[in-house]
Amino acid sequence: MQIRRKLSLTFSAIILGGLILLVGVLTYLTHDYLVDLHSENLRKEASALAKVLGYLPEPHFRSSLDSLAATLKNELRIRVSFISADGIVLADSDVDFASIDTVENHLQRPELQEARNIGWGSARRISNTVHEPFLYVAIHELAPSTPVAFVRLAMPMRIVEGTVQDLRVLIIVGGLFILAITVVATWIFAHRITTPLQDYMRILRAIENGDYSMRTRCIGSDEIGRLGAHINETADKIEHEFKRMHQLERVRTEFIGNTSHELKTPIASIKGYLETLLSGGLEDKEVNKKFLERARFNADRLQLLVNDLIQIARIESGEMRMSFRYFDGLQLLRELHWEFQNQFAGKRLDFRLDIPETREIKVRGDKDRLKQALTNLLTNALKYTDEGLVTLGLRDSRHTVTIFVEDTGPGIPREFHSRIFERFFRVDRDRSRAVGGTGLGLAIVKHILSAHDTQIHVESDGHTGSKFWFRLHK
Ligand code: ADP
Repeated sequence: MQIRRKLSLTFSAIILGGLILLVGVLTYLTHDYLVDLHSENLRKEASALAKVLGYLPEPHFRSSLDSLAATLKNELRIRVSFISADGIVLADSDVDFASIDTVENHLQRPELQEARNIGWGSARRISNTVHEPFLYVAIHELAPSTPVAFVRLAMPMRIVEGTVQDLRVLIIVGGLFILAITVVATWIFAHRITTPLQDYMRILRAIENGDYSMRTRCIGSDEIGRLGAHINETADKIEHEFKRMHQLERVRTEFIGNTSHELKTPIASIKGYLETLLSGGLEDKEVNKKFLERARFNADRLQLLVNDLIQIARIESGEMRMSFRYFDGLQLLRELHWEFQNQFAGKRLDFRLDIPETREIKVRGDKDRLKQALTNLLTNALKYTDEGLVTLGLRDSRHTVTIFVEDTGPGIPREFHSRIFERFFRVDRDRSRAVGGTGLGLAIVKHILSAHDTQIHVESDGHTGSKFWFRLHK
């Protein structure tokens, strides 16, 4: 069942129950209250009446009494009886004066008995004379110099009950009016609750079906509104997470594609050379050595590639743990300078070490990995620079040192500065191949340095050399 219907039904049932209870209780209480009120009024009226009886003319006292009773009955619509001390009815508005003497003695009437005892009495019963329920009130007051000892007034109970009935109708009509208002109000109120809920359902269902773009506009400061805001936030998060996953998936697929492509080329070459040698090339003194050397060159490339791939994979999977220690930065640069000397000797290239003339400068980092990063930078400088100068240097400052590798090679055009650190990106593919590049060297450098909380920078105008530099904490 819908919330709207549930709420309306519940509220209506509560109001209806309350209404029935109210009518019951009020009818009961009002009835008694009205009887009391009327009794009290009748008593006062009877008492006032007793006091004026003395003014009735003496000679025609009985007939005057009868006229008085008849007049009061006409004016007030109440029955009036005047009764003597021994119970004889002297006059009665409901009995003809001629037949008054035939009326039975009233002394035993309960209201009279009570009045004789305590001054006044009341009773509710069916009248013997007119046969319908009456409220009787009698007072015992001896009117001076008259035979009247009791004045009794009676009013039909239908007057009391009529008032109660009017009241009951009033309450029921009012109650039904409130009921109608409640049903409408509940309906509107429930509508305001269910509209956002339906909207939230729509969004959750969309998410379930893989659509993360929907948002709800039903947000606000109450609980439901906050739920809406929360659903939007969650949808945002899911959408972003999904985009990130997609991106990762794309990068991974691309990487696998690139890797297999990179591996295929040297393998195909090696296979080609070997097949040519096997199908007769081996006997040909002109080409056999050349082909074997080319096969070995490709095998070397393959080895470099596999080594770099293993390194990248280990860094990215987090398997390669860095171990940070303080070490002498100058010492590291001196080692590299010494180790690379021989490789530079074969080229028309100067290789310089440009460091402060201090004994040592302590820096913090993983010395082996940093050596690997600098090896990659120096290898590139060596690969891409044909003549001129390569400088490996260090500048000292208060909290950091800056280490750089600068060359006078072809430089790197600005538009590629951010891309050269991507895996397999090369500015000049053929040249990179020719010099035995894998396209992974700078990606490894970037990874190692970001693990050191620092960044690799490149400076080059695109024709007069390149400078790679990074900072390390001391
Ligand atoms: P590769 O194995 O191809 O050298 P790297 O990741 O080390 O791969 O470098 C990416 C690309 O950046 C290179 O292919 C090259 O085009 C360019 N590059 C890197 N270092 C230099 C340099 N010192 N001078 C000119 N170009 C460079």
